Amino acid sequence: MSVFSAPAFDGHELVACCEDRQTGLRAIIAVHNSTLGPAVGGCRMYPYASDEEALHDVLRLSRGMTYKSALAGLPLGGGKSVILGDPRADKTPALLEAMGDFIESQGGRYVAAEDSGTGVADIRAMAARTSYVSGLDDNEYGGDPSPSTAFGVFLGIRTAVRHRLGVDNLSGLSVAIQGLGHVGYYLARHLVAEKATVYAADVNQENLQRAVSELGVIPVAADEVLSLEVDVLAPCAMGAVLNSRSIPTLRAGIIAGAANNQLETEDDGHSLQDRGILYCPDFLINAGGIVDVYHQRVGSAEAAKRSHIQRIETTLAEVLRRSDECHQQTRVIAEQLAEEILRDASASPAQLQAVG
Ligand code: NAD
Repeated sequence: MSVFSAPAFDGHELVACCEDRQTGLRAIIAVHNSTLGPAVGGCRMYPYASDEEALHDVLRLSRGMTYKSALAGLPLGGGKSVILGDPRADKTPALLEAMGDFIESQGGRYVAAEDSGTGVADIRAMAARTSYVSGLDDNEYGGDPSPSTAFGVFLGIRTAVRHRLGVDNLSGLSVAIQGLGHVGYYLARHLVAEKATVYAADVNQENLQRAVSELGVIPVAADEVLSLEVDVLAPCAMGAVLNSRSIPTLRAGIIAGAANNQLETEDDGHSLQDRGILYCPDFLINAGGIVDVYHQRVGSAEAAKRSHIQRIETTLAEVLRRSDECHQQTRVIAEQLAEEILRDASASPAQLQAVG
């Protein structure tokens, strides 16, 4: 497995691997950039088909966290960790504690939070061995940042609709959600409250039925949701769903969802632009969760957290404006904006105190 020449390496500051034969833990911690502060990012557990796949995933996600935290105005760097294994079969208390030891051994350069395949209870188990964990507050959601992620995505949808369709409310508009898990469910709740017509699909029938019965979303087949004719498509299940196979079939004018790394390749961003589809960069509009984790860590009041998440609207509006102005992809513009923030912080580190 080659690290330095991995396609997603991109100057990572740290890539650490751990194998603990006693507990079966195999994990990677990646820190992409710590210019703005310690790297905070989720710890994902997934049954990767190969070490290369796990490395690629952790590097892409970690880089995304650098941009996400920078654009969200957080004094945090970008990092991520992955545990190679099936969360349903391989997760044991001993394995989670071993992951806690691995995180502890990095001395605070990386701080873990929950992610796909891990929940607040798992992070709590890691916390028995390390203090470098986040998102364990005893708030209404037990520390789960997903409702905040959903709120940010909802604001992103509202901003994109205002920009593209020139309307201020979502009443009467249609939105298709792929995935009704932690984020998708709360996103559907916001949209239904705003009187949007919500179509949704989930491969997990229990999650789908819950949203149908509690929120009144209209169920659609999992293999049809991406190509529904709707105003907005919100991918909230997994990455790489926007690719050369799916893009020609899309019939939504706006894409704004929570899933990380929705574009399979950089070319897919071009294809969306060529088709006139407005793509809201995932790392910009799904930042509500990391903002939540940060505010849990510093002990802010709910109102401060909420108004911080609301900045997503202003930042997205700026990205959409610049994108129109220079006919450049929204993803590229958002990355440029994040790079500007990182450059300014490197030039005058004292300003970092004021961030967030
Ligand atoms: P989750 O695992 O709780 O929910 C994902 C849902 O998608 C599940 O219900 C699953 O059954 C469903 N799903 C999987 N494959 C599907 C398919 N092919 N078609 C339809 N449904 C499918 O995850 P989550 O926490 O809700 O996160 C959703 C996405 O958002 C992930 O990509 C995650 O990385 C990203 N994200 C989450 C947060 C957060 O705060 N939870 C923050 C930022 C980004």
